[in-house]
Order: sequence, then structure tokens, then C-alpha cells
Amino acid sequence: MTDPLAPGSTIGILGGGQLGRMLALAAARLGLKAHIYDPAAGGPAEQVADRTTVAAYDDAAALQAFARAVDVVTYEFENIPTSALDLLEQHRPIRPTRRALAVSQDRLTEKTFLQDLGLEVAPFAAVDSAADLDAALARIGAPAILKTRRFGYDGKGQARIMAPGDAAAAWAAMADAPSVLEGFVRFSHEVSVIGARGIDGAVACFDPGENLHEDGILRTTTVPARLRTAQRADAVLLTGRILNALDYVGVMGVELFVTPQGLVVNEIAPRVHNSGHWTQNGCVVDQFEQHIRAVAGWPLGDGARHSDVVMENLIGAEADDWARLARDPDAALHLYGKAEARPGRKMGHVNRVVRR
Ligand code: AMP
Repeated sequence: MTDPLAPGSTIGILGGGQLGRMLALAAARLGLKAHIYDPAAGGPAEQVADRTTVAAYDDAAALQAFARAVDVVTYEFENIPTSALDLLEQHRPIRPTRRALAVSQDRLTEKTFLQDLGLEVAPFAAVDSAADLDAALARIGAPAILKTRRFGYDGKGQARIMAPGDAAAAWAAMADAPSVLEGFVRFSHEVSVIGARGIDGAVACFDPGENLHEDGILRTTTVPARLRTAQRADAVLLTGRILNALDYVGVMGVELFVTPQGLVVNEIAPRVHNSGHWTQNGCVVDQFEQHIRAVAGWPLGDGARHSDVVMENLIGAEADDWARLARDPDAALHLYGKAEARPGRKMGHVNRVVRR
């Protein structure tokens, strides 16, 4: 097994958004340095990192210099070009593994992987043409959701099909992108598990959180989630199975639908996850530190929850309310340092700790 990276070592982070920022802050607490790689200057992570490389993902010289300057490479988003990963991998380990990225970058690969693991997923079919969509709809039935296989996030690249008559418009909305049709899951609520796996194969999961979405964007996460004891165990065990199957190192978010028949896996994210932000104020070691610990080869922290938390995202102009939120004794305010509050943009979040 590889030795843990000593304090003073450098974690290379691909992506300079708020997740990169909170990873960099966690690294700093452990005496580790963060080196951010992002095509845009002045992002949330750059403001708190030791170093930043501002360069494109096809800039071979910049990638090479970045790899040489860091001890391990990790990432805060999934859609990193394969060519960049190929190059980085020649110099430094990438954690989590390439396989986790490959699986989660493509909804069809992801669904197939989860199904092969014996996990419950929505009925699905690949759709590459209007004719494919008609055939898939005939098999799966409406209502259903058509999603692009790649580059979808926060509900983008999706079209709902309430009746077969909606098919043509839904296919047009995909703009010829390879897609997947998913049967509509009648869930009572949505939960997620933030799980971690260390280099030694140890697994630690945080308590499942209950997620409320609005306009495709996460609104709140509440812990504990409404789950029966057996469902809670199920959620954690299936997350462990996914982590082990991918020989994963780092933190992963697993989104689940809760149905009367059991848990259905919606999707996995091979990174720290918005629905895990509550851990910053509900656990001794939060998801960001947990990820840094894992990729640096350190022992994992304990995922146990010491407080109930409601995490609320501050979207767009909601962050303008910072002065009032700062006066609330039970609210932990986290702002991302973004200059401009555009509608739908995640500007920060607030963790409301429920005192016992
Ligand atoms: P996604 O981008 O796939 O996570 O989808 C965004 C949101 O759309 C989910 O959090 C659900 O609320 C909803 N959704 C996605 N897929 C399905 C499905 N197959 N059945 C019901 N709701 C879905």
C-alpha cells in the first residue's frame, strides 16, 4: 500500500468551483496544499488555494507542468476530457479511478453498471433516433424521461414525456445527442448517501440525507432522512457495494428514490456532492476532509452524525441575505466568493443545526 501523503504535500484538483474551494479549505486544515486547475481565472477555489493553473483541458504543456507540481490528482466535476486524464495519469495517480469517471460520465454505462451489480434502477433504453424513442416508449411506457447520455446536470438535458404524443418534441430537445429513456419512478421522496472508501479499502458512509429539488436544482437536504431502519441499512450497504465494485478511492454521492417497493438508484457522482454539505456542521469529519483524507491515503474519519442539520442552498440573489443569516445563532453560513449572482447559480449554502 502507498504511504500517506505527509503534511506539506500537494493535492491537485481539477475544477475551481465551490466544491474545489471547500476541498482546498479541508486540505489546508490538514496541512496539505491545494493546486487548482481551471480554464477560468478568479473562481471560488482559486481564492483559497495555494496555487492555480489557469489553462484549457487540451493544453498539454500546462497539464504536464500541473501534474509534476502535485502529488495526487483529484477532481470536483465529472466531465473532464479523456485526453487530459490520459496525460495526467502518466505522471501522477488520479483518485478516484478513471473507471468511476467513465461509468458516471455516461448515463447508459452508469445504468448498465448499476443493474449488473444487482441494484434497482428505473427501466431504461438507449435512444439514438426518433425511431429508437418510439420503440423504447412502446416497451417502457409513459410517463418517462428522456435524458442525454452525457453532460447533463441539475436537470439539464432532460425532457419529460407524459404521453406518446410528446415524443417528437422530446427527441428534438435532445438535439440529436445520444440519449437514454428512463421510465418514471413513482417515488415518495429522494435521499442520497455520501460514501467514502480509503486506499486500504475501508468504507465509511454518512447518514442518508433527504433531498428536495426545485426546478431541477437541489433546494434542501435534511438529516436524518425519513427512512425505515431496514431502508437506511440498505442505502448504506448498496453504496458500499458500488464503492467496492469500482475499487473507489474518495467520496461519492449516490442519489436514491424511495419507493414502496424499496430503493431505486437514480445516479452516482464520483465526487463530493451538494447533498453532502450538511456534514460540515453535522459531523466531526465532513465530506470534504473525508475526500482529501482518502485521496491522500490517510485513514478515513468517522461518518457518524452528531447533530441533525437542514442544509439550504442559497441560489442567485438569496445570498444577498447574508447579513440576516449571519445573525441567526443556529445557522452556519457558507459563501462561495462568486462575484456575480446569476439566477439559478449556487452562491452559497446555510447549514441549520438542530440543537438537541
Ligand atoms: P437527474 O439529473 O437524473 O438527477 O434528475 C434530476 C431530478 O429529476 C431527480 O432528482 C428527480 O427529481 C427527477 N427524476 C430524474 N429521473 C427520474 C425518473 N426516472 N423518475 C422520476 N423522477 C426522475
